[in-house]
Amino acid sequence: MQIAIIGAGISGLLCAYRLAEEFEVSIFERENYPGGLCSSVSFDNLQIEKYNHFFSRYDKEIIRVINELGLSGSLSWKKARQGSIIDGKFFDMSRPLSLFGLPGINIFERMRFAAFLVKASIANDGLRFNQQTARVWVEGNCTKNVFERYFKPLLEFKFQNYGDVSAGYLWARIKEGKRNDIGALSGGMGVLLESLMDKIRGRGAKIILGKTIKRIERTLENKWRLYDNESFEEFDCVLCCISLKETVRLCNEELKNILNIPDADYLNAGSYILKLKRPLRQGYWLFVNHKERGLSNVIIDASSVTGNNIVYCRVYRRTGSITERDREKIFNNCLSALRNINPDFDQTWIEKKMFHADNLVEPVLTNEFIDQLFSGGGRVEGFYLPEAMYERHLLKTVNTQAEKAKLIFRMIMERNSNESSNTG
Ligand SMILES: Cc1cc2nc3c(=O)[nH]c(=O)nc-3n(C[C@H](O)[C@H](O)[C@H](O)COP(=O)(O)OP(=O)(O)OC[C@H]3O[C@@H](n4cnc5c(N)ncnc54)[C@H](O)[C@@H]3O)c2cc1C
Repeated sequence: MQIAIIGAGISGLLCAYRLAEEFEVSIFERENYPGGLCSSVSFDNLQIEKYNHFFSRYDKEIIRVINELGLSGSLSWKKARQGSIIDGKFFDMSRPLSLFGLPGINIFERMRFAAFLVKASIANDGLRFNQQTARVWVEGNCTKNVFERYFKPLLEFKFQNYGDVSAGYLWARIKEGKRNDIGALSGGMGVLLESLMDKIRGRGAKIILGKTIKRIERTLENKWRLYDNESFEEFDCVLCCISLKETVRLCNEELKNILNIPDADYLNAGSYILKLKRPLRQGYWLFVNHKERGLSNVIIDASSVTGNNIVYCRVYRRTGSITERDREKIFNNCLSALRNINPDFDQTWIEKKMFHADNLVEPVLTNEFIDQLFSGGGRVEGFYLPEAMYERHLLKTVNTQAEKAKLIFRMIMERNSNESSNTG
């Protein structure tokens, strides 16, 4: 069986890693480098992830792959600390009791808030929350005030227009458990990408970089044609390891109708990477700057992982790409957040800075979109679309991509054995 994979991001590579053991696999990547959102950039003589990635102890499948590849020695676990800047003041949120020091809510609200977080963390099935929006869910279980002060800034940070975001999204974020013990690869995701590429090539698969797939067609014999301009190659199966929006653009009307790909809004993301002359704080920190002027932002001090004083300041946009004008505002917001985190900070601490942005990084999880996923949109024999698959977890993370790669491998093995027994 000949299999084509579109996209050599972590999803395409994880699928190829499994499939290349059994089948003939070709991966097509439009950039001259692999990794997509997990790729690295050269920054002041460092090779550094453009968006920093970390794992939680619950990310079982990707941890299994890391171990399989012999990289367990590169995966280190750190106690992450979390800080929030609320009304311009810094709060260390790492301790379980920090909730009780939060300003602006009364004792009754604190208790409901704590009970809500515990209940959400132990719930195993977030689907039952999907009938509500995040706002309705929090307001019903905590209070309107708790939502306004603590959840709204976070949802606004990510989605701006958050009114239709599913409670399932918030549940999955709370459940993710990335607040305390977090795992990161020393050397960054580049270490994992390189090892996967070696294994994939070792298993005989072709990784074709710098080749954009422009069109996909299904033939009458149920083969799949991938066009790069006017020339094409034919395959038995195709895996589209790219966003649903990009997938739709590659299909003609007929294929679009057959596939019935779920429609979603997408987020665009951007990140400043700053190299500081001295540490912002000791340890690995996630800082949430609640809306002070303009949008809230999240700042990650990755110094203890990168070995340098590296700080990431990420932003998301639900509509429109991140523009030059946005960048200035993002940078100024970032400076004010850094001053709140460490009052000694001033701009002369910044040795180097760099900005990146990517479009279509993840679908917005609305109830409508999740319903479309469950109803099986985007699934047709021989065509696999990880983004349209729901495999227990709702969020788009490296671990969920690993889970989906395993699932697709099983589906293709099953299809292959059915075909073999039919022809036999
Ligand atoms: C700011 C940020 C922080 C994150 N942090 C974490 C984290 O800490 N932990 C975690 O687990 N996850 C994190 N994630 C999520 C994680 O990065 C993604 O889930 C994962 O990288 C998605 O991989 P992918 O292969 O599906 O997509 P992508 O990385 O987008 O890869 C798709 C690839 O397809 C290629 N492509 C697209 N169209 C074509 C075409 N027509 N022809 C050929 N090639 C094409 C692209 O060039 C790209 O290389 C983060 C994401 C962001 C944006």
